[in-house]
Amino acid sequence: MSEWQPVRMSEMLNAVETKKRGGELSRDTIQRVVEGYTSGEIPDYQMSALLMAIFIRGMSYEETFALTMAMANSGKRYSFPGCVDKHSTGGVGDKISLTSLPIVAACGAPVAKLSGRGLGTTGGTIDKLESIPGFSCDLPEERFERQVKEIGLAIMEAGDVAPADKKIYALRDTTGTVDSVPLIGSSIVSKKVATGAAHLLYDVKSGSGAFVKSRDEARGLAELLVRLSDSLGIEASALITSMEEPLGGAVGNALEVRESVSFLRGETSPADLSEKTRVVAARLLELKNLPNPEDAVKKAISSGSAYEKFQEFVATQGGSVKALGDLPRSREVREVVAPRAGHVARFGALGIGHAALLLGAGRERKGDRVDPGAGVEVLVKSGDEVEKGQSVAQLYGGRNIERAAELVLEALEISDKQVKRSPVILGNL
Ligand code: URA
Repeated sequence: MSEWQPVRMSEMLNAVETKKRGGELSRDTIQRVVEGYTSGEIPDYQMSALLMAIFIRGMSYEETFALTMAMANSGKRYSFPGCVDKHSTGGVGDKISLTSLPIVAACGAPVAKLSGRGLGTTGGTIDKLESIPGFSCDLPEERFERQVKEIGLAIMEAGDVAPADKKIYALRDTTGTVDSVPLIGSSIVSKKVATGAAHLLYDVKSGSGAFVKSRDEARGLAELLVRLSDSLGIEASALITSMEEPLGGAVGNALEVRESVSFLRGETSPADLSEKTRVVAARLLELKNLPNPEDAVKKAISSGSAYEKFQEFVATQGGSVKALGDLPRSREVREVVAPRAGHVARFGALGIGHAALLLGAGRERKGDRVDPGAGVEVLVKSGDEVEKGQSVAQLYGGRNIERAAELVLEALEISDKQVKRSPVILGNL
């Protein structure tokens, strides 16, 4: 973009008209709209109209690329040319950053991760890590960079990255315009470009607990994320994974760190968590061209080097390594039992995510305080056989426990017939 020109009201109206009729916006118009909305010059009602027109009409690749760049350039941009990173499109019980990143760091691939907090049923890595007593994600930039060089793993809050996306995302959230592939793609990649990792793996979820419900739509989003990243000089690949059921057993901040610690210590862990962690870690090592990625991952777990790396990372960011063995868990506990015998057909991610949110593990609005010890422990998965009265979940937390128990029960579908366990990895590119 040459020199900045303020957007004129007539130009904004023209943009809405153009998009409404299925036309294409120029790069300069997109740039001026993004700048104008971020500065407050364009009011919410006009931006909402444009977003809805985009939602209905879609955007060409060129428009999506221009939107991505305009949002990436709206705030601070970092650069970590030797580093790997992963991005998940959000899920329930998704603790794969906690389990896979210490593994890849232990294998010699440095990780500089700028992460977010949870919103709604989607958890956030920052909230999870902050459930470790003393742990801080608020690092000065030089300290963050030094930590990446010295121990190969640092995670901080992505506060000043892509402010235009933050403002537009908040508006999308209240105007029914979140679930549009070009808007999701540009939103995600704008933040990833600004956080500066050179090698990136996208974990695109599909299913009832994800932003995109169908596998085809998830593949379309994955292709867009990889194409946008490639155009911007990031070496990227993607996995398409299932978000029909929570990942692993724990949903909730400290509960998820507990489960991750247990996995990294080589203790018995849920099969889906173990499989997905290994695949993600190996794909990250592959992106960095490290040899024999699967073997390297296996060895990092069995030798204890991945857990040592996690402990070093926790200690360096001020967290208590001693507390890892006894993280907070709410003393208020409720057991949920199977109402009848049969085979678990589904234990829906969305219902369980809502229950965890109501118990205090998540926030309905930005700024709400989370309870680190709240959440749900899922004890059965699709394919399991259950007896009537068998414990299927434990709820932790002092808030809304009755309603949470109802939601968990509603999320449980029991069939008379045998059920095949659904796969966790659905595809890749
Ligand atoms: N995650 C993002 O960062 N942006 C979206 O639009 C959806 C999910």
